[in-house]
Amino acid sequence: MLEAKRILVLLGPPGAGKGTQGQRWAEEHGWRYTATGDLLRQAVQNQTPLGLQAKAYMDKGLLVPDEVMGGIVEEVMRRSQQPLVLDGYPRTLPQAQKLDEMVKRWGWEIFAVVLFVLSDEEIVERLSARRICPNCQAIYNLRSAPPKNDELCDECETPLIQRDDDKPEVIRKRLAVYKEQTLPVIDYYRAEGLLKEVNASGAPEEVYERLKGVMSE
Ligand code: AMP
Repeated sequence: MLEAKRILVLLGPPGAGKGTQGQRWAEEHGWRYTATGDLLRQAVQNQTPLGLQAKAYMDKGLLVPDEVMGGIVEEVMRRSQQPLVLDGYPRTLPQAQKLDEMVKRWGWEIFAVVLFVLSDEEIVERLSARRICPNCQAIYNLRSAPPKNDELCDECETPLIQRDDDKPEVIRKRLAVYKEQTLPVIDYYRAEGLLKEVNASGAPEEVYERLKGVMSE
């Protein structure tokens, strides 16, 4: 199997560090990092038909329908010439089954599935301090990984924002949705023997060392 056709799937609750770790992995290995949440937020920002449809779900902390998500990911798989880090998909059992189907159709391989494990307490703490760059999608944490200048992005100096769905009421809903709809996906990949677990607590650097450790097993 060509390395260019590999997919690394990142699973874990919101705030577990999938974006931070996935972006770094992609950068260091020449992979392409794709987060379905980023694609949706861009669509919302650009007020495309997809964005207008997705916003209603995202604002409430609910999942966007499976059929919509399948189309988005299929487009990425059709176009990408690089191996993929996939963050935020699949999030339901039907999405995991759909991914298997698309992988076969377009000649890809699920190389590994990494689950980032973090307690509810730490998730809430991290999400409320999270800020993102709406321009380049860089991720910060006001407590543990703050930007160098005020609340400006270190990379492109765009003012950072708090995601609408990182507000406390929506965080609680997103966690409930994760437990109800995404936990079965973990069992699905465990049964296929693809799952690797990483303790996501601690500094990004420590977590990245653990990620490299499980990826080289
Ligand atoms: P994230 O940035 O991964 O936390 O995603 C933000 C929001 O986008 C989620 O709360 C969902 O509303 C939506 N979303 C992202 N990925 C998916 C997906 N695979 N399935 C359904 N909804 C998604």
